[in-house]
Amino acid sequence: MLKRNVYLDHNATTPVASSVRKTMNRVLKYYWGNPSTGYQKGKNAQQIIEKARDQVAQSINAHAHEIYFTSCATESNNSILKTLAQHFYPSKRKIITTPIEHSSVLKTLDYLKNQGIIVEFCSVDQNGFISISELEGLIDDDTFLVCCMLANNEIGTIQNLKEISEITKKRDILLMSDCVQAFGKIPIDVKELGLDYATFSAHKLYGPKGVGAIYAKISAPLSSFIHGGGQEEGIRGGTESVHNIAGFGKACQSVPDLLSHLQKTQTLRDHFLKLLKDIKSDIVVNSPLDNGLMNTLNISFPGIKSKELMMMLDYHGISVSSGSACSTHSPKPSHVLKAIGLNDQQIFETVRISFGINTTISDLNYTIKTIKKFISDTQLNSQ
Ligand code: PLP
Repeated sequence: MLKRNVYLDHNATTPVASSVRKTMNRVLKYYWGNPSTGYQKGKNAQQIIEKARDQVAQSINAHAHEIYFTSCATESNNSILKTLAQHFYPSKRKIITTPIEHSSVLKTLDYLKNQGIIVEFCSVDQNGFISISELEGLIDDDTFLVCCMLANNEIGTIQNLKEISEITKKRDILLMSDCVQAFGKIPIDVKELGLDYATFSAHKLYGPKGVGAIYAKISAPLSSFIHGGGQEEGIRGGTESVHNIAGFGKACQSVPDLLSHLQKTQTLRDHFLKLLKDIKSDIVVNSPLDNGLMNTLNISFPGIKSKELMMMLDYHGISVSSGSACSTHSPKPSHVLKAIGLNDQQIFETVRISFGINTTISDLNYTIKTIKKFISDTQLNSQ
């Protein structure tokens, strides 16, 4: 078999689109002025930032002045959670969240627990969906925030945020959502969803690494997280990464195009699953096929160690991951798969495959052939 290069880990990161690269190169060449300076060179750079702010805002139906640029979604999540805790504590102390949030939320909440914040978890079912009635029951007078991701990075579950926001609005509680994985994969309208805060990252959207954003509804409290020169309306000090921000804006312009690929992605997913079941009928699909991200397949391979499968796929030029990329540094089993009820053995037999706009049928056929050969070799060796 001819070795190919097949990238099937788009939930970890995406390649930078050529239109984004072109925009960034132009900014690096011509717009290197400091946006905080008052002369033309600085003003030109500031204009680039404001154009990108408009582009990000438009792609999620927000106003430009509701968008703040950060260095990544991890920073965005930290900023909102920590400054809100500071804002409300001690008059209100409780945050309600889910056990399947990204570590940038969960680790921040761990930190806040040590500062006196009460964190309560709304459990999820075997597909990763939270129980709305349980959530409602957890809300009390001490609660100031519900924090629930829109789409999960490991299994792709899409939560019903509209339903959640109807409850938070009724109870006068703020709602924050990590929308990193949903962006460009499902339509996002922050007003329609009823969000007070949302977080985003450019590199999951064919944009550059090193730039993220916060959406904060006009009336929602937000205070300075990085103190410095007063950039980003004083919310985030530090000279802006103008080329990254411009790249983020350009990437957002492609959102309608990305969304128009959904049908194709579904066809690829169904094709891949069918072929996979033909070669290994006992695979378990941990991703919800209804109300889940179309590009995300989290699959357990009973009897096959995911580490060995991944290494073999990598040897053949195919990139997939186990759980989330961020968790590959830690030997602990995925907290998401644990939360949906998998035991340690099942977790270590699980891989995540995530398609992108450039994934082709022939990429998937090659991947299937490679897995098939691995399975038959493994069976031969164990005889
Ligand atoms: N939230 C989710 C759901 C993610 O998948 C990730 C990245 O994997 C992040 C947050 C963190 O994003 P960033 O890499 O921009 O810090």
